[in-house]
Amino acid sequence: MYEFIPDNPYLLLTPGPLSTSKSVRNALLRDWCTWDADYNEDIVQNIRRRLVALATKKIEDYTAVLMQGSGSFSVEATIGSVVPPNGKLLVITNGAYGDRIARMAKVLKLKHIAYSCFETEAPKPEILSVILGEHPDITHTALVHCETTTGILNPLPEIAKVVKAHGNVFILDAMSSFGGIPFDMADCNIDFLISSSNKCIQGVPGFGFVIAKTKELLKCKDNAHSLCLDLYGQWKEMDKSGKWRYTSPTHIVRAFYQALDELEIEGGVEARYQRYCKNQQLLVNGMKELGFRPFLPKELQSPIITSFVYPTLDFNFDSFYKTVKKLGFVLYPGKVSQADTFRIGNIGEVFPKDIMRLLEVIESIRNEI
Ligand SMILES: *Cc1c(COP(=O)(O)O)cnc(C)c1O
Repeated sequence: MYEFIPDNPYLLLTPGPLSTSKSVRNALLRDWCTWDADYNEDIVQNIRRRLVALATKKIEDYTAVLMQGSGSFSVEATIGSVVPPNGKLLVITNGAYGDRIARMAKVLKLKHIAYSCFETEAPKPEILSVILGEHPDITHTALVHCETTTGILNPLPEIAKVVKAHGNVFILDAMSSFGGIPFDMADCNIDFLISSSNKCIQGVPGFGFVIAKTKELLKCKDNAHSLCLDLYGQWKEMDKSGKWRYTSPTHIVRAFYQALDELEIEGGVEARYQRYCKNQQLLVNGMKELGFRPFLPKELQSPIITSFVYPTLDFNFDSFYKTVKKLGFVLYPGKVSQADTFRIGNIGEVFPKDIMRLLEVIESIRNEI
């Protein structure tokens, strides 16, 4: 017998995997048979329906596909399954996750170009319009909603309008925003929306999901560059009876079901958004008082994760990180190329009282920084 560690020794203030509730983790503690309705219908199909309902009011036009692997596997499954051989993808990027989509397109040998912005700059609808006008062969446009690299929230409705005006299929990496920031995918003309189990829905890591406009997904038969990451193939099988094509991550799926229940109990996406906003405001105000400057201007900042600039030239993040971790909080290194930053996430089972505690911890070690 192994001994269980009774609870988490620290809170994860990261963009995922993130801190989950004890009840979500408890839901992992039994095994499931993947042949019967108590799993396939009552859990998998139920989750698929609830995901569609979280994404849009127009539920009849959309469907959900669950996919094994981390979030990137679902992004790659989407990119590799929806762009046809005669299609061309435009990737809008202002950070590491946008760049990752462009790399996927390259590895998959898809025709593609990138609209690259600085990491501190939101993509501009008028520039996008010019690019799409100059490249009428572009059929698909991909955007990252919250670029977790910096915490920037990209202007989804404005970009969506331009994509729609040019008749493009619109792919949104909403990995770090779905479930934590309210929007309706039908209103934003999103054809494929990608997220994963361990971000704002607050489940444990292990699978991703794609919410797709059914009409567009139906066009993806035989497009895939991979057997396992075939979004259409996975959907066809799963849509019949809730069965995954290959081994289903049962425990994680059951914990995700619990996480969806807890999102509802909290009051849905709007209530969760309010909590994340409160966390973020408390954090930024408190950190400013302690001498830390946020990297992004306020109007670009999402409530998901905040980048802070190193307070001094000789700031030692490594030792700061280790000390703060010993005192109960895991922070996150920066990922920005233009500046020395570190990040603090607000998502997960994290409440204003936790942020207050973090600020006290940082204040207590203030003189050692
Ligand atoms: C977390 C994240 C991903 C996926 O990362 P994985 O490590 O593969 O789960 C993709 N895009 C964004 C914006 C993310 O925040």
